[in-house]
Amino acid sequence: MIDLHTHTLFSDGVLLPSELVYRAKFKGYKIIAITDHVDYSTYDYVIPRILKVADVLQNNYDIQVIAGVEITYVPPKLIKDMVSRCRQLGSQLIVVHGETVAETVPEGTNHYAVQAGIDILAHPGHIKKEDVLLAKENNVCLEITTRNGHNATNKEVATLTLECGAKFVFDTDSHSPEDLMDKTKIEKTLANAGLDLKYFDIMQQNALDIIKIRGLR
Ligand SMILES: [Zn+2]
Ligand SMILES: [Zn+2]
Repeated sequence: MIDLHTHTLFSDGVLLPSELVYRAKFKGYKIIAITDHVDYSTYDYVIPRILKVADVLQNNYDIQVIAGVEITYVPPKLIKDMVSRCRQLGSQLIVVHGETVAETVPEGTNHYAVQAGIDILAHPGHIKKEDVLLAKENNVCLEITTRNGHNATNKEVATLTLECGAKFVFDTDSHSPEDLMDKTKIEKTLANAGLDLKYFDIMQQNALDIIKIRGLR
């Protein structure tokens, strides 16, 4: 299993990176990305630390660990600047905290994010068709999520993604160990998104493609 959206206590997750990664490996994960929430106050603190521990963990456990970020509540017009700052510091994967219906994410976040050279737009809520088309053009994957609240628009996101020929990935947005992926969560989430089980493999392949495009495999 591949999961490109998780959190540790470097933002609002409950586990140390080492414990999260080991628990994921124990559950059968092959690849995990740690994508803690960052903004202008924390990106330069978080990125070097996650890079360091990711390296240690993947060299000692049989799992690939990607050091990413989730750019969160950054003013939409500044997302592009934050993306280049994160990449400059070596961040390997850029997720943006999209306009979920579960929170009051700044309007325009989806639009500016898909134009900013990111990899994944997380839980995009009621994303506009024009932004799905932009995501396709810019090779940004949209996210189907297992996370309660954010998952309310999975079906809408999945339908538009397929209609526009864009790409989606399957993530857990794990904040605690019980959030990690398993068979029950996969089946439940696909059913909730109105997707056939075969789409899980397609989404996993899309996740693998992102990693290859970024030169991480
Ligand atoms: Zn969070
Ligand atoms: Zn998240």
